[in-house]
Amino acid sequence: MANKTYIVEHLDDELGPWSELEYVTIAKESHAAGANFCLSSVPSTLVLPAALKHVPGFTADEHSVETLYAEDKTRVCLLDPAATKELSPEDGDLFDVFLFGGILGDDPPRGMWIIVNRTSELRKKGFQGRRLGPKQMTTDTAVRVTRLIVQERIPLDKIPYVDYPELRINKNESTEMPFRYVKGEDGECIMPEGMLDLVKKDSEKGFGDLF
Ligand code: SAM
Repeated sequence: MANKTYIVEHLDDELGPWSELEYVTIAKESHAAGANFCLSSVPSTLVLPAALKHVPGFTADEHSVETLYAEDKTRVCLLDPAATKELSPEDGDLFDVFLFGGILGDDPPRGMWIIVNRTSELRKKGFQGRRLGPKQMTTDTAVRVTRLIVQERIPLDKIPYVDYPELRINKNESTEMPFRYVKGEDGECIMPEGMLDLVKKDSEKGFGDLF
């Protein structure tokens, strides 16, 4: 089967600093794993950050994934928190394109609890869906977990996770991240480089504005 392609359909008008860090991380990890990363539905007016544009293997497309794979929908698997089937290593033989919603998460996650949510915009396009367990992940975590399952063939329940980690902002304050992350070899959650500093900076402005 062809090399894997991870597509994030960018569903917001802007590309904020959180998304930038997530997308740069996805691009670098995909390239290192011999996979491609495409950001689709990028408005032509959106100027992509150099840090992202220059990662080898990264492509941006102004078309929606629906147009890009109009003739080939069966190759595409939508990672969908509301799907009834979990993603399995065998799905790596069925699909070579994995599609994610490029949106920051909600707390509580809307995608899990109510019908009107952002991932559902992609669900309507008729791709087959798979779930990555019951907890909401950041987009880069969802791509990482998908890659571990379909490329490294590690079952979903054998991947080590950290749920809702507390990040220390300063000696008096900490903040809880409302997501599931993959646990790294050092026992800490894997996050994009620079994310901790961004969380600290944003928490000074008021964390609530982010969601
Ligand atoms: N709150 C958003 C919603 O209402 O749909 C979810 C945003 S999540 C941060 C970004 C993307 O990661 C989702 O669109 C989905 O493709 C993927 N994702 C995150 N957690 C997932 C899970 N548990 N199962 C399947 N996909 C997941």
